[in-house]
Amino acid sequence: MFENLSERLSGVFDRLTKQGALSDEDVKTALREVRVALLEADVSLPVARDFVKAVQEKATGQAVTKSVTPGQQVVKIVHDTLIDVLRGEGEPGALKIDNPPAPILMVGLQGSGKTTTTAKLAKRLKDRDGKRVLMASLDVYRPAAQHQLEVLGKQIGVDTLPIVPGQKPADIAKRAKQQATMGGYDVYMLDTAGRLHIDEVLMDEVQIVRDIATPREILLVVDGLTGQDAVNVAEEFDSKIGITGVVLTRMDGDGRGGAALSMRAVTGKPIKYVGLGEKMDALETFEPERIAGRILGMGDIVALVEKAQETLEAEQAERMMRRFQKGQFNMNDLKMQLEQMMKMGGMESIMGMMPGMAKMSKQVQEAGFDDKVLKRQIALIQSMTKKERANPALLQASRKKRIAKGAGLEVSDLNKLLKMHRQMADMMKKMGKMGKGGMLKQAMK
Ligand code: GDP
Repeated sequence: MFENLSERLSGVFDRLTKQGALSDEDVKTALREVRVALLEADVSLPVARDFVKAVQEKATGQAVTKSVTPGQQVVKIVHDTLIDVLRGEGEPGALKIDNPPAPILMVGLQGSGKTTTTAKLAKRLKDRDGKRVLMASLDVYRPAAQHQLEVLGKQIGVDTLPIVPGQKPADIAKRAKQQATMGGYDVYMLDTAGRLHIDEVLMDEVQIVRDIATPREILLVVDGLTGQDAVNVAEEFDSKIGITGVVLTRMDGDGRGGAALSMRAVTGKPIKYVGLGEKMDALETFEPERIAGRILGMGDIVALVEKAQETLEAEQAERMMRRFQKGQFNMNDLKMQLEQMMKMGGMESIMGMMPGMAKMSKQVQEAGFDDKVLKRQIALIQSMTKKERANPALLQASRKKRIAKGAGLEVSDLNKLLKMHRQMADMMKKMGKMGKGGMLKQAMK
């Protein structure tokens, strides 16, 4: 997938990154080509326009990064913007399927791959998440449809609701709910009937079924090869039914791939999965990073992007260092430190590099910093509001309770974190005074 788009883009960036210094004119020309490439990939015009604008704005606002050419910097910005445009909220592929039996409603046009996707997703939920799944076909118009799902169910080892000839979709939905409850299923999936085009009758029927099942997820299955049409279909379904996510099928074909880029931006709904073939395991969660990588073209460009990112991180660390020297150390700084520690292999390795630190914070050492502890501490900080992070002094009892709860931890865990923060803040201040940068800077490298 994305062959054309990625070829076009890597052509543009090859030319760009080969140059040492870039003029505004170079960037403008490159972005004009990016826009054409997006449009040719069937990305909708407003999305392509906004995309280029976002890249342009970030590019002009950005401080010059040392050791990265302007061309590389533009690549990084394009890469990040691609991810932004593609990213939905929450975990990719995560479905709200707690509270069994959780209903999932599958909707879409005929031929979009709806029935196939229903079975693929059921298999995935069974194999990966250990869920007991029941599938039911509500397609009473195509005689073969219910049997098709039954056959797929047998193939993948997932139960299907027994077929009762002549039953209406609403009644099938009720029966599915009943059977799922009585049979102790975790999830039941309703595969609705599709039409060639969106029509009132279809929408009315889906609405009735929706109101009966009150699904946790309403997944729209659309053919990714249809580009802009897929986005129009999604808008239509969303306004009439209200969808919670999209599955783009046929992303294995070398289609224009524009649907992926427009979908999120136009509908505001996340792409949850992509279908990558006819086989039952050809369903992947939609990962913006991976798709952005594919769109930009792998190899050189991605390596350049990564290098640019590393450089930016190093500069961030430097900026942080300057803050410490001024005695500023808030929860955001602590979070960055903790994340850094996770990357560097835990607290011990850092202790080894900082002679002063080993003596000063035995307690910190004894706390035993493994990944799990670090992750919990980061979760606590993430549970704080922006204001709280900037000013931990705000944290009184009720706020503490909320934060601990948000992270799924106890207030005592938070108190430990706050104590550590105070210790570290003191330490940073002292070290900052000791020598401009010297020791700490060494340790951060
Ligand atoms: P429905 O009418 O929406 O239920 O569509 P079906 O599930 O019957 O699928 C129609 C055709 O598309 C079948 O031949 C499927 O094997 C095929 N199909 C579904 N998803 C994909 C996909 O991700 N990639 C490819 N290449 N084919 C797919």
